[in-house]
Amino acid sequence: MTLRPLGAAPEKCMIGGRWISPANNECLSLINPSDGSVLCDIAKGSKEDIDQAVFAAESALQGIWGKTTAAERGRILARLGHLVLEHKDELATLEAQDVGKPYKQARADVLALARYMEFYAGAADKLHGETIPYLDGYTVYTLREPHGVTGHIIPWNYPMQIIGRSVGAALATGNACVLKPAEEACLTALAFAELANKAGLPDGALNVVPGLGSEAGAALTRHKGVHHISFTGSVEVGKLIQRTAADNVVPVTLELGGKSPQVVFEDADLDASLPFLVNAGIQNAGQTCSASSRILVHQSLYEEVVVKMAKRYNALQAGPAMDDWDVGPLVSHRQKQLVEGFLAKGEELELVGRGKILEDAPSGGAYVAPSLFAGVHPDHILAQDEIFGPVQVVIPFQDEDEAVAIANGTNFGLVASCWTTDGARQMRMAKKLRAGQVFLNNYGAGGGVELPFGGTGLSGHGREKGFEALYGFTTLKTVAALHG
Ligand code: ADP
Repeated sequence: MTLRPLGAAPEKCMIGGRWISPANNECLSLINPSDGSVLCDIAKGSKEDIDQAVFAAESALQGIWGKTTAAERGRILARLGHLVLEHKDELATLEAQDVGKPYKQARADVLALARYMEFYAGAADKLHGETIPYLDGYTVYTLREPHGVTGHIIPWNYPMQIIGRSVGAALATGNACVLKPAEEACLTALAFAELANKAGLPDGALNVVPGLGSEAGAALTRHKGVHHISFTGSVEVGKLIQRTAADNVVPVTLELGGKSPQVVFEDADLDASLPFLVNAGIQNAGQTCSASSRILVHQSLYEEVVVKMAKRYNALQAGPAMDDWDVGPLVSHRQKQLVEGFLAKGEELELVGRGKILEDAPSGGAYVAPSLFAGVHPDHILAQDEIFGPVQVVIPFQDEDEAVAIANGTNFGLVASCWTTDGARQMRMAKKLRAGQVFLNNYGAGGGVELPFGGTGLSGHGREKGFEALYGFTTLKTVAALHG
């Protein structure tokens, strides 16, 4: 199969500015989850390829990239952002076919990737240290320096957006990156590497090694030449990465998903909230770290909200990504099985709304009908575990204290939202909700590129996005000069 994403060679790795066959010459098949067909073969990178990629990144830091000024780094990222926009249709098509996300959502992801490049292009030369008043005869200042080689292990659900937020901030601050995209979806990562070359990014500043997590991913995590690891993915693998990184005493940024609530109070503007309540759960077929999978509703509005959400659910249709239905397939049959396992555990629950899978949807596709459950006990597994599928639960509450207890009553803490017209309550809830982002009378599912993002508890630690990410991708050096 000869698919060349924007000129990239999918069966190869991008190392040191060139497309190179993996050392073991092995490939993996990339599956289109809309119909089960093989899209193309991709490289099955191994430890040898990771070694080469880290070496290329170190060489870039010793060479041109290490001498590139902050302003010039910004210019390169700006050119990259332009190229992303120039190729928005091709990138959206690749992402839709690869991930299975509806084309319109894939297009939104392209625009987000371009925005990340624009944002970090502008930010690259705005980050600076400080001078610190100290003893007589001293001048003290701080320098913000890149970590060096940064490892980026990304998942399959939002490849473009996650590349944008992590690689964008790392390059803006002068790190050299080794990116390990997910084995389920990596075409836009490869296309991005090709565009980075075209934008004039010096060789070795961005290296991409596709492959299995247990091989290429693990090798990247273990590598002694890697100085920072940024990981987005499952809790299980996040813990593994943190443990492995501890051996090299390397900082990690972990974004591990959530069980994010939207809390609807009795004074909420229901018409304004309803589209957010449902969309935040079914966007990307619920395969979103910041999906809102729990809807907490004050008992006075409970029946009305359930009826209205159920109506919307019953009208939802799942079908092939490129045809732009409400919901696409899940990324893989493995993911479909995981979600169906959760649905089986919800059999005794009150299923109040269920979307439809198109009758003529390809039989090889990984489709799951969106499902809405009501009256769910906050401790039920469907209200506690991250499902990563188009499934939401509605939970009633009686007062603000109970709402807070339920909202904070999982091991996660990524995003939360609160719907109320009471200004004092908005402020109280913003403080009380345990989450890295709180939305008041809206739900941002991760929010814009400008907004710092990350979690607490099992949702991970460290912040990406916005200006805050630049601090995470740099290390602070204090310089104290005694001059008398
Ligand atoms: P999911 O279960 O949703 O696929 P994972 O956490 O398994 O999420 O995968 C997210 C990313 O982590 C992918 O790029 C995957 O290849 C990578 N990965 C999986 N296992 C490991 C591992 N042991 N070490 C490093 N990376 C891994």
